[in-house]
Amino acid sequence: MPTARQIFEARQRVQGIVRETPLLHSPALSARVPGEVFLKLESVQETGSFKLRGATARMAALSEEERRRGVITVSTGNHGRAVAFAARRMGIPAVVCLTDRVPAVKRDAIAALGAEIRIAGATQDEAEAAALRIAEAEGLTLIHPFDDPWVIAGQGTIGLELLDRLPELDTVVVPLSGGGLAGGIALALESADPALRVIGVSMERGAAMYESIRAGGPVEVEEYETLADCLSGGIGPENRYTLDLCRRLLDAVHLVSEEEIAEAMRLLFREERLVAEGGAAVGVAALLSGKVSPAATDRTVVVVSGRNIDPDRLLSVVG
Ligand SMILES: *Cc1c(COP(=O)(O)O)cnc(C)c1O
Repeated sequence: MPTARQIFEARQRVQGIVRETPLLHSPALSARVPGEVFLKLESVQETGSFKLRGATARMAALSEEERRRGVITVSTGNHGRAVAFAARRMGIPAVVCLTDRVPAVKRDAIAALGAEIRIAGATQDEAEAAALRIAEAEGLTLIHPFDDPWVIAGQGTIGLELLDRLPELDTVVVPLSGGGLAGGIALALESADPALRVIGVSMERGAAMYESIRAGGPVEVEEYETLADCLSGGIGPENRYTLDLCRRLLDAVHLVSEEEIAEAMRLLFREERLVAEGGAAVGVAALLSGKVSPAATDRTVVVVSGRNIDPDRLLSVVG
C-alpha cells in the first residue's frame, strides 16, 4: 500500500518535470453554491493533465536495466501522453497501447512525443490485456495508469500542494475513474487531518469505481460514448490498491449526467474562461447540480484534472 511518506518522496522525484499548478478562487462557482469554491487547475499541467505526476513518480523508480528495456502503458489518452513525455525527458523508450476510441488529439500528441503507438482493441480492458501480453513478450515494464503505489503517490502530490496553498480547506471534489487521483489526494489529506473530506465524482455512463465500492469488489461495467472519455474503463479485475483506498478514504461518490457535464464545461469556459475536457469538469458538475452541497462556511476545492479535448468538440459543447 502507498503511504503518505511516499507522496513526499514522489514530490521530490518529480521536480523538474511536473509543475506546481495554480489554485484559483472561482467567483462564478462561489456565487452559485454556499461557501467559497477554488479550482485546482491540473488542466494547465505540462501535457494537459495531472497524469504526468504519477507517470513521472513511477518511472523515476525504475532500475537502470528497466530503463534500458523500456516501458509500456495502456491509456484513454492522458496517461499515455504523460508516459510518453516523461519517457522522452528521461531517455526511456516507450510503447503506448490505445483503443480505437481514443480521440485523435490525444493520439497525435502521443505520437509527437516519440512514443510508439499500438492500437489494441475496442475497449479499455482489451487494450490492457494486450499491453500485458506485449510487456511479457518484449520485457517491457508496465506503467499502470492508476493501480500502482508510485502512481498513486505521484497523484497525491496534488494533495500536498493544496495543503501548502490552502491549509484551511474543508472538502476536495475529485474526478474519479481508476481511483489513482482520488486515492492519492485522499491519502495526502488524511495524513494531515482525517476530518478533511474527499468526494469522488464519475459519469453515469460507466462508473466502474462507484459500482465496485457498492459491490465490495471489482465490477466490470459497459463502456459507452461519453463526454468524459478520460474516465472510462474498469478498475481491473485484480485491483490491488485503489479500490481499497477509495473505499476507506472517500467520503462519498456521486454520478453526473452528460448534460450536467456539458453545463459544467460551459460554465468554466464562459464564466471563468477555462478549458476543461468532459471528465475534468465532473467535479464542477457535481456542485452545479447540487449533488455536492457545501455548508456556508466551507472552503471547497474542485480538481479540474485536464484539458485535452478536441477543439471542435469543445466548441460544439460550449458554443
Ligand atoms: C485519468 C483521468 C482522471 C481519473 O483519474 P483516475 O486516477 O483514473 O481516477 C480524471 N481526469 C482526467 C483528465 C484524467 O485523465
